[in-house]
Amino acid sequence: MVLKSKVLIIGGTGYLGKRLVKASLEQGHETYVLRRPEIGVDIEKIQLLLSFKKQGARLVTGSFNDHRSLVEALKQVDVVICAVSGVHFRSHQILLQLKLVDAIKEAGNIKRFLPSEFGTDPARMADALEPGRVSFDDKMVVRKAIEDAGIPFTYVSANCFAGYFVGGLCQPGHILPSKESVLLLEDGNKKSIFVDEDDIAAYTIRTIDDPRTCNKTVYIRPSENILSQREVVELWEKLIGKQLEKSSLSDQDFLNIVKGQGYAEQVGLTHYYHVFYEGCLANFEIGDDAEEACALYPDIKYTKVEDYLKQYL
Ligand code: NDP
Repeated sequence: MVLKSKVLIIGGTGYLGKRLVKASLEQGHETYVLRRPEIGVDIEKIQLLLSFKKQGARLVTGSFNDHRSLVEALKQVDVVICAVSGVHFRSHQILLQLKLVDAIKEAGNIKRFLPSEFGTDPARMADALEPGRVSFDDKMVVRKAIEDAGIPFTYVSANCFAGYFVGGLCQPGHILPSKESVLLLEDGNKKSIFVDEDDIAAYTIRTIDDPRTCNKTVYIRPSENILSQREVVELWEKLIGKQLEKSSLSDQDFLNIVKGQGYAEQVGLTHYYHVFYEGCLANFEIGDDAEEACALYPDIKYTKVEDYLKQYL
């Protein structure tokens, strides 16, 4: 029997992080969750952490402002998964992970590090637009530090979180589907890839003890969830038994709208541009130097977009 790694999850109270904690426990890993003193009297976070403890997780105190505390936390585990924030309109702390890399180097016992990635593969985004490219650039800075330090890694490229993209029928600024109308980005025909966040967590945890994923990028590409915006809309129309009124926005008009927005919105909108006007998620084949999660773990029954949409009925 292969011994399951002990896992430390950092950013465990976050949108993705809490799902990683759940998946790690469900898959039988001894699971540690970082409790940062900075969360202070944030009662929601405290309650969530306590609920993890009830489910069997161990809480370990540590701060990005206290190198020793990070090293001590790391010494208790084999694998670290970091899910610190990376969405500008919420919070963006990707570069904080450089401190974590330093602590991993010092601890010296970490067999695998999964940094906070979980989106578009930043290595493919060297030509991304300003200002959204900051998300990719920062993730590449962290990758370089990891690789320079010789830390074994797995980078999870999770494509579009379903909650953000399916819920809003791929329209920026929407996370609930309308029963009346939809704005198509260009002709709505560029293929994208949508993944339920719980599935992202389940696939991610499966990679950590898998030698096939060591020092690799793992893309999550559920074949039935490789869909265009128009196809997502059609699935919704089938569910509600009605056609939506459709309008469309050209790429130039979209980019003009972006210019008039605040910084955080511009970052998010330029990401939409690459996904829905350029098709950056699905317009390439996965090479021999990377892996695809659904092929590696076919026993995980992922949620199809059609089923994901049913919750909005
Ligand atoms: P959240 O915004 O939910 O934040 C995650 C956690 O980051 C927080 O719960 C907190 O952890 C930690 N954090 C926040 N601020 C600080 C700080 N100042 N110092 C230290 N820790 C802090 O993150 P998400 O779950 O939205 O994002 C996780 C990853 O997923 C990111 O890399 C992001 O880019 C990616 N993503 C991808 C999407 C996609 O569609 N592909 C969509 C959204 C995100 P705690 O308090 O528990 O310590």
